[in-house]
Amino acid sequence: MSLFVASRTCFRAAAPLKRQFQVRRYATEPPSAEPTKQGSGTMLYLAAAGAVAGAGYYFFWGTPAVKRAEDKVKAAAAVAAAAAAKLPLAEAKKAFTGGDQGFVSLKLDEVEVVNHNTKRLRFRLPEDDMVSGMHIASALLTKFKPADAEKPVLRPYTPISDEDTPGYIDLLVKKYPDGPMSTHLHDMTPGQRLDVKGPLPKYAWEANKHDHIALVAGGTGITPMFQLCRAIFNNPADQTKVTLVFGNIGEEDILLKQELAALENSHPRRFRAFYVLDNPPKTWTGGKGYIDKELLKTVLPEPKADNIKVFVCGPPGMMNAISGGKTSPRDQGELKGVLKELGYTPEQVYKF
Ligand SMILES: Cc1cc2nc3c(=O)[nH]c(=O)nc-3n(C[C@H](O)[C@H](O)[C@H](O)COP(=O)(O)OP(=O)(O)OC[C@H]3O[C@@H](n4cnc5c(N)ncnc54)[C@H](O)[C@@H]3O)c2cc1C
Repeated sequence: MSLFVASRTCFRAAAPLKRQFQVRRYATEPPSAEPTKQGSGTMLYLAAAGAVAGAGYYFFWGTPAVKRAEDKVKAAAAVAAAAAAKLPLAEAKKAFTGGDQGFVSLKLDEVEVVNHNTKRLRFRLPEDDMVSGMHIASALLTKFKPADAEKPVLRPYTPISDEDTPGYIDLLVKKYPDGPMSTHLHDMTPGQRLDVKGPLPKYAWEANKHDHIALVAGGTGITPMFQLCRAIFNNPADQTKVTLVFGNIGEEDILLKQELAALENSHPRRFRAFYVLDNPPKTWTGGKGYIDKELLKTVLPEPKADNIKVFVCGPPGMMNAISGGKTSPRDQGELKGVLKELGYTPEQVYKF
């Protein structure tokens, strides 16, 4: 019996894609064999220890090496101390409270170069024991005013750090040629400040809201999808199944690859990812070209299945082809494209 057939109880079979996706492996262990959630406190300690041990891993500007290492140790100690004194999330102090709070000024702490066009930016929250206050799913609004502009530039971003992590948030930012905000963020150096406001509510998630969700993402469209994944797989009470279809140009563009691979390993019966590359290397065994109807028809939960939801986030061209674009941040717009052709209803689709 093929591994794909073995997994039918959780997911639709992907037989035509067997060869394309031959790198996929599905476990046959019972659900109880899935590792339980690693406590986020443990993760924080590991992160803090890793931050100290791996000070050279990050790429900084503007400070001498010794000072950088000292700052790193100090920041890691602050995070570890805050984690040790951590309150339940509901009781923790929140940096972003919404309403009439306005913009909060955050200091850039660290910058990691992820690939040729993407950086991971770590901003310190105003107090070390504060959590972000983000709920799932939500985004943050960033603001800056170019020197020669009349109006400020405002753009949303979705943090990739855990919501219960005290002391900082991480943004994963791809730079677009001539894009004012992404260029500004890429030009920032540690110590500089950014105005940030939030949370901007998106699709309100609660445990087991749907039996099975599909995430169709392109490029940095993975960040809101990763937020949903973190909410689901960090909560042992949430048994939602998740199928991710993630399109990128080249292999080096696949963001959060290790984190997604870790989810596939820790939750093999509930999380499956399919990768599609427009410009794949010779050795690539995943999908080639764009995310298309055949792939989605094969791997997504069927529209007639009970209680499913399909989330879509990506560049305008991808949105148009898959679901149709949003009309505005508050208006999902008409459902069009491949998802409509496959029979999904507007209620079954959410566009980030
Ligand atoms: C809810 C939400 C969450 C987001 N989260 C993130 C995130 O975590 N990380 C991140 O890097 N971006 C994210 N974005 C996109 C981000 O808000 C900006 O649109 C992006 O950084 C470009 O801004 P800019 O000012 O540099 O360029 P803009 O002036 O806005 O755009 C420059 C050029 O790039 C094109 N462009 C804009 N956005 C995209 C895109 N997503 N894909 C392809 N082409 C595009 C535009 O059409 C234009 O031609 C998110 C968007 C939304 C709506």
